[in-house]
Amino acid sequence: MNPNEPKSVLLEARNLSASHGQLVAVREVSLQLKPGETVALVGSNGAGKTTLLRTLAGVHAAQGGSVWLQGVDVTPQPAHRRVQQGLALVPEGRRLFADMTVRENLLIAQEHRGRQRDGDAGWSIERVVQALPALAPLMNRPAGALSGGQRQAAAIARALMTNPTVLLIDEVSLGLSPRAVDDVYRHLEELRREAGTTLLLVEQDLGRAMAFADRVLCLREGRIVLAAAAAGLDRNLVTEAYFGVEHAT
Ligand code: ATP
Repeated sequence: MNPNEPKSVLLEARNLSASHGQLVAVREVSLQLKPGETVALVGSNGAGKTTLLRTLAGVHAAQGGSVWLQGVDVTPQPAHRRVQQGLALVPEGRRLFADMTVRENLLIAQEHRGRQRDGDAGWSIERVVQALPALAPLMNRPAGALSGGQRQAAAIARALMTNPTVLLIDEVSLGLSPRAVDDVYRHLEELRREAGTTLLLVEQDLGRAMAFADRVLCLREGRIVLAAAAAGLDRNLVTEAYFGVEHAT
């Protein structure tokens, strides 16, 4: 990419591949995220969604292709370096330190942040609690004592403490009650409205994904089989891509 070009693409994968041993889980995936966009990644179990997110974040090694963050090839960089440059992952299972309080979990994340980026005031505990008010009464509770929805909110808060420009969220609704899902999406809505955070989220609930995202990417057997604007998208088309229904020609 020409370094003088405006940074109209925040995060990019070019022909990205990743494996688990012999099994190729992500196959030559190319995608682009523009600033402020919300993109939903959908696909059936085992389609490769988690592996793709982990490979973008640098937690899982790429086998081929490259990952670019604001025009810089970050493929050789380990996860913590990508965090410092504004890429944060909210992993499946959330991985909070269960014995530590929510506040302590947030403070640890703060230590891993990079320098503040232009025009970004940076996330403080106070600002995070403002954005996710449900956390206010929970700050001194051990993370292990939280409900699923509360844990998800705390995991998003922890990622925010690293000052991300791009947030990758795995399985937003998995294991949450419908009410907790509503709460988490309300938080995400506020986040993108107030902070303009760019979001790439894995969502099993197709209706929810289509309602919330600007674009939908469908992954099947490690490949992107559908990429479309969410507005006006025919749900049947996504379902067919999901399950690999072939049309006779
Ligand atoms: P799910 O919704 O079930 O989490 P997914 O779309 O996130 O699915 P991945 O978890 O990325 O898919 O899995 C992609 C493929 O890689 C699957 O075939 C899965 O069995 C395999 N896989 C995932 N993790 C591992 C692992 N640690 N070791 C071996 N194979 C794995």
